[in-house]
Amino acid sequence: MDLSVFQWLLLPLRIQTWALAIPLLVWAWFFGAVVGSFLNVVIHRLPQEGLSVVRPRSRCPQCSTMIPWYDNIPCFSYLWLRGRCRFCETSISLRYPAVEFFVGLVLAYFVWHFGFSLQTLELFSFSCVLVCVALIDFDTWLIPNVLSLGLVPFGLAFAWVSEQSALIPLSLFGFPPLFEERLVGSVVGFLLLASLLVVSTYIMRQSGRLEKDELAMGWGDPFFLCGIGSFVGWHALPLIVFLASVQGVVIGYWFLKSGKINQEPTGNDDWTPPTTGVPFGPFLALGALESIVFFPGEGLHVFAPLMELLGLG
Ligand SMILES: [Zn+2]
Repeated sequence: MDLSVFQWLLLPLRIQTWALAIPLLVWAWFFGAVVGSFLNVVIHRLPQEGLSVVRPRSRCPQCSTMIPWYDNIPCFSYLWLRGRCRFCETSISLRYPAVEFFVGLVLAYFVWHFGFSLQTLELFSFSCVLVCVALIDFDTWLIPNVLSLGLVPFGLAFAWVSEQSALIPLSLFGFPPLFEERLVGSVVGFLLLASLLVVSTYIMRQSGRLEKDELAMGWGDPFFLCGIGSFVGWHALPLIVFLASVQGVVIGYWFLKSGKINQEPTGNDDWTPPTTGVPFGPFLALGALESIVFFPGEGLHVFAPLMELLGLG
């Protein structure tokens, strides 16, 4: 095969030789970890009104010393500082290196399957937003609209660009979804959870479990599923809601028992966090990530064995 360097980089690493694939995978992991380090800043600063995610540079939250670049290297700095600030020795949350490691792994995975292509860029940037939403919602019970609804123009733009250009010859597993499928996906995603919100609020107000002006859940989740739909298309939504609900019950129960859920009011007047509930956003994000990693383009087919089992197939 006679390929230019550009075409060659578009090839998935899994079909390259190991001598080439391994250094590129390591590079992809490290670059992803650097992005993960930036996401940690976004997760910390975005929910706080008026804080820029770019400036100023990171400081130790305890002693406010500016963190020098050599103490800010993803994962490695945490290891050689043994998880403590160099200046005041306050321990650094394990979450920071965990996010960096994980985001690096996600990029390496997509490069393995899709090379350095537009598809990798799309799936990776989508995953980054999922990670941010998951942790911000977990911390604060809020999903910033800029992250949830902000997905929609990008999801549609990615579909448009890839359909216009010959940049994506790798339509693996019937993926990526078409423009129309995504447009329908964002509308259906919103309506699905918005109707759940309206119905559950009505029922809980009728039964007196909610005050007259309170909502059963926030508007953040319908907006978030709207954004997700614009990337995955409508086919994948039932799977994502299914994965989110099952894991939300199992993992959420465990989080609730371990007291890791923040039950403080959010400052939002028409909605207070339930003392016996967990935020749904992290599980929607988890389900969406699982659907693009493990079941890309499979949509409703995933349910075929289940339907057969129930005699519906
Ligand atoms: Zn410090």
